[in-house]
Amino acid sequence: MIAYADYLQLLPKTELHCHFVSTMNAATFLEFAAKHGVELWGSDPDTLFDFADLPDFLVAFRLAHDVLREPEDFERVAWEGVRDAVAQGNLRYREYFVNPQYFAARGLGYLEVMEPIIAGLAAAERDFGVGFRIVAAINRRDSAASAVDMVREVIAHPLPEVVGIGQDDLTPENTEDPLRFAAAYELAAAHGLKRTAHVGETDHATPDAVRQAIETLGCHRLDHGYRIVDDPEIVELARERGIAFTTTPVSTTICSGWTLDPAHRIRAMIDAGLRVTVSTDDAMFFRTDLGREYREGLAAMGVDAGTAKTIALNGVDAAFCDDAQKARLRADFRAQFAALDALLEPAG
Ligand SMILES: [Zn+2]
Repeated sequence: MIAYADYLQLLPKTELHCHFVSTMNAATFLEFAAKHGVELWGSDPDTLFDFADLPDFLVAFRLAHDVLREPEDFERVAWEGVRDAVAQGNLRYREYFVNPQYFAARGLGYLEVMEPIIAGLAAAERDFGVGFRIVAAINRRDSAASAVDMVREVIAHPLPEVVGIGQDDLTPENTEDPLRFAAAYELAAAHGLKRTAHVGETDHATPDAVRQAIETLGCHRLDHGYRIVDDPEIVELARERGIAFTTTPVSTTICSGWTLDPAHRIRAMIDAGLRVTVSTDDAMFFRTDLGREYREGLAAMGVDAGTAKTIALNGVDAAFCDDAQKARLRADFRAQFAALDALLEPAG
């Protein structure tokens, strides 16, 4: 028999919301920083990943891109990230945000970044059976015109693995401001790219940011979205459109100061009938992993086994891969669920 925490850790999982540099492990990160002579924001490994809030974390997140310089750096991070997530949380499929604008600022072209990442993830797919797609992330700290240029790069260099656009960072004013990037989303839509956006996460965000991402940016799915629970009309809109949400439980304790308990906004989103999925966002920086998000995050929010399985399957439904791959994932998940259900200790 297995305890509920182990059951949650062993459930097969997708991850639809992680930023590529954040899938690095701390040892590789420190090794690459030393190799390339990158001075980090601190040197004590015990406190290196202590952040006061979201803007404080973002300073470190930007700098972390600096330690990836050579093709073999990208390939190794890609491969190791899959190896680690399989061991920590039974990862079966993952989508990555890659921000070409950060790397362009460091002199690396679009394909110089994407090709070695894809090579590393393809090697990991052969070794661990974990499929993947990539979502090009708009750097919100950069201008709206720069976002349009980035989408033009994606369109000019079509890669079957790069299927959509999303976002990272915050605007220079530390806001979400989804409408600032409307032209980039319009261009992406015209070329058949999938769309997602980070909205409804920050302290000053309103549910209206969620509405704008759905109605104006035409997003198929949303990252975070927690403020939606403050407006029943927008909850209804998201439910009607079948919008999925990539929530990241542990990051909310650091970036928003929330407690993981049954009153958490993610639990309210689940109870409201929204299509919730669970991811790590920035695993290295938040000292989390996909297993922990389920084992500690879902358990602390009082999520039961049936709902945890629904969340895992929501991650398949909301993925940006093709239907054949989704069908294979669903069959794999259902078989693993049956085996785990048979082992689960009865509650109480
Ligand atoms: Zn994110």
